This record gives sequence, structure tokens and C-alpha cells, in this order.
Amino acid sequence: MQMLSQLSYRPEPTHDIAIRPRGGPVRTIDGVTDPATRPGAELPAWTIRRSTRARRARIVVSDAGEVVVVLPQRAPIATAERMVRDHAAWIGRTVARVRARHAQVHARPTLAEGRALMVNGIPHVVEHRPGPGRTSVIRRLDTDDVGVRASLVVRAADEPTAAAAVDAWLRQQARIVLTERCAALAPALGVRPTRISVRDTRSRWGSAAVSGSLSFSWRLILAPPWVLDTVVVHELVHLRHANHGPAFQALLRMHAPRADEARRWLREHRHELRTALDDGEDTRSVA
Ligand SMILES: [Zn+2]
Repeated sequence: MQMLSQLSYRPEPTHDIAIRPRGGPVRTIDGVTDPATRPGAELPAWTIRRSTRARRARIVVSDAGEVVVVLPQRAPIATAERMVRDHAAWIGRTVARVRARHAQVHARPTLAEGRALMVNGIPHVVEHRPGPGRTSVIRRLDTDDVGVRASLVVRAADEPTAAAAVDAWLRQQARIVLTERCAALAPALGVRPTRISVRDTRSRWGSAAVSGSLSFSWRLILAPPWVLDTVVVHELVHLRHANHGPAFQALLRMHAPRADEARRWLREHRHELRTALDDGEDTRSVA
């Protein structure tokens, strides 16, 4: 099966800004171009990464709050220094936001302590019941005035076994829901996917192959249903248009009017979705 990587719905990997390394006006985020007009702005710690593919210099703040300046091969180091100085305020704000989100993720209860997971838009509280015997996951749905809630009763010997059982259960739910949503949304687009697969992809939420086969990240089940639907529509539209051109965009927006909002949601919650079942560490560096 040939996967077309250019068709993939990539999570925007970074919080970044791009600036032309030399020549032309420097575009700044907050409109202040002269570092001298920013008294007392302390420069954050940062590193440089050379990229053969980058055509412009950019500043990247990783999910962990590290600041990296990506420079094209031939751009001078001074470009990086100038960018960091010029954008110190933006970097400071972004690092603070990213760190706050990280802290929030770390403050969650563990699975054994009763972590709540949003599953297809419904809060599920995990109840781990340690003990011998067969590992099982049972969902109990509960409807009250506030809405629908669920508990996931997990019988498992220890916490790693419980986490593995919840992981498997979520993948199964993802497969069911993504298959259902593809079937529900495909007819309006006049397409028919040949195969739906569900994986744990890190670099993309979904992808489409020329064969008509669609692939999705199982973690979409942790996103609100309208976000999951948008990714499904995005990949279905690729069965009509093998690019992100104007025809693709028009059809996407017709069938998923909240496409931009969904993209933002996934960017903002990516770390949370990736670490839903573990202790919040996400050590993989960003691209
Ligand atoms: Zn795409």
C-alpha cells in the first residue's frame, strides 16, 4: 500500500514563527522591530538546529518548552540571535503557555487514582480494581441532569496492566467510531474508502492512500466528536482531491465548516492526547 505522505493531516508540530533570514523586512509578532525599544527583555535559553530543508529561519517552541531556532544551512548565526532578541516577548509568552499546559498534564490523577478520559466527547472515569484473575474493562454509562457520564471499571493485577487494558479498549472504540463515521460521512462526498485502519501514528492524525485506504490515529477518540469528524472528512476529501489545493479546501469547508477550529484544537491538545494513558512525559523531540 502506497501511503501518500503529502496527503496526511499533520498535527501542526510546533508553535513557531517564520522570518526571512536576510533581506526584506523582518516580520514580528508583536510589531516591535527594534530590540532597543524593549528594555529589560531577558533572552531565553535557546539552541540552533541547522536544516537542509528549511528555506527560512524559524523559532520553534517544543511541547516541553524548549526554544530552538531552525536555520537554513547558510544563514548566519547572527540571524538566530537577532530573531530571539526581536521575538523575546513572543517566546516568553509561548514558553509560559506550553509549560502551564505541561504542568496541568502532570497534575492529573494517575489511572489508578481515577483519571478522567474524554472518550468520543463523554467523560469516562477510570476505576482500577486490582486483583488476580482475568483482566477486563467494562464501561458503565450513567445519564443524569448534567449529561452522560461513564466509568471504566478495569480489573487488572497492577497499574501497567490496567493502562494496557485501557489502551486496547480505547483502540477498539476508536476503530468502531472511526469506521462508523467514515461510513456516515463518505456518501455525501461521493467516495467509498476501501479500508480503514487505526494506528498510533505520532506525526499525523490521518492519511489517505491512492488505493482508497484511510488510516487514522486511535487517539482521535479522545478528541471531541466534531474534531474527529473533521479529520475523517479531511481524509475522505483526499479521495477526491490528492492535494490541499483550492478544490480540496472548498469541499473540506463545505462538509467540515469548523476545519480551522479543529486544527487549532488538535494543536492545543496534542500533548494531552499523546500522554492520555501515561505519566505525562513526552520525551520525543519535535520536528
Ligand atoms: Zn491532507
